[in-house]
Amino acid sequence: MKFLTVTQESLEMGANILKEGGLIAFPTETVYGLGADAFNPLALAKIFDVKKRPHFDPLIIHIAFINSLENVADFSLINKETRKTVFLLAENFWPGPLSIVLPKNERIPGIATAGLSTAAIRFPDNEAAQKLISLSGTAVAAPSANLFSSLSPTRAEHVRDSLGEKIDMILDGGPARIGVESTVLDITGDKIKILRPGGTPREAIENLIGPVDGSCIIEQGAEKFTSPGQMKSHYAPKTPLYVLKSDDIIRRPYDDTSVFLFFDGLTRNAWRDAQTKTQMLPDAVKVLSESGHMSEAASCLFETLHELDNLNVSRIFAQEAPQTGLGEAINDRLKRGAEKNQNMNHSL
Ligand code: AMP
Ligand code: MG
Repeated sequence: MKFLTVTQESLEMGANILKEGGLIAFPTETVYGLGADAFNPLALAKIFDVKKRPHFDPLIIHIAFINSLENVADFSLINKETRKTVFLLAENFWPGPLSIVLPKNERIPGIATAGLSTAAIRFPDNEAAQKLISLSGTAVAAPSANLFSSLSPTRAEHVRDSLGEKIDMILDGGPARIGVESTVLDITGDKIKILRPGGTPREAIENLIGPVDGSCIIEQGAEKFTSPGQMKSHYAPKTPLYVLKSDDIIRRPYDDTSVFLFFDGLTRNAWRDAQTKTQMLPDAVKVLSESGHMSEAASCLFETLHELDNLNVSRIFAQEAPQTGLGEAINDRLKRGAEKNQNMNHSL
């Protein structure tokens, strides 16, 4: 496996790997992607293999020009009005963290879309990703470059630690700017629907095209599936994670087998003031954003969870974010990451 920083030479090498049916991990503004040629079924099969991803979980297809949409989608299957909406969304949010679900072009193999007749398509806002895709001359199917259901990779090192030698190349473009995956928006049904909250906030979409239907809101123990692959337990650290509302985390006493992840500095201060124990493990307390700044919090969410996960403690307690803007995506990831421990949550 080659681990290279982004240069013209490494991008060309990466593009050749794609053309030859290999796998390359590359930076995007959301998280690192594991890319393969979206038209090559054998290459696509390797993605599922390496990630141990179930075949019912469809991949997102990445393009580097709005014009390439015609190669991966089939516009003859949608009406004029919907077509207008797609281009309005594309013009306003692309390149960027929005994946649009459209009828798929018949040239896209079924393995890419888990047998669905639709495909989620995105134009990423990262120069290296755009150059790589455009040099490869194809569209690139890319899920996150990690093992299925584990924490998403926001740095090249995260990819190396989880997939390492199983792939052909890792292109290091530094930390991901946004840090949570794209918003998945389905325009193929009667109503436009957010299938997964992500880097493009619901409010921004609604300002442009009016109200859209909800994503699945994950409440304790109950969830409606709105999209294949929207597993209840996902994005999970190895260390059991518990998500608590601000008031509850403030009341949670410190113990040296646990670490605490706060959304903002104010809540951390309130929690610290309530503690009787003052001796704490170094790194036992982290804050996503001191000032409670939403995009800063999103950008370091997975990175901080990776760090906490490596401390070998028994539990991570995380504070729920306010449910606005990117907070919807942050809470979605935290709750899916905590899902495995849901039964125990009740007894906390
Ligand atoms: P990721 O694992 O970040 O690549 O995101 C892929 C997710 O996008 C899948 O797990 C699905 O939830 C969603 N997705 C991808 N393609 C489709 C599709 N054709 N229809 C509905 N959801 C999709
Ligand atoms: Mg993923």
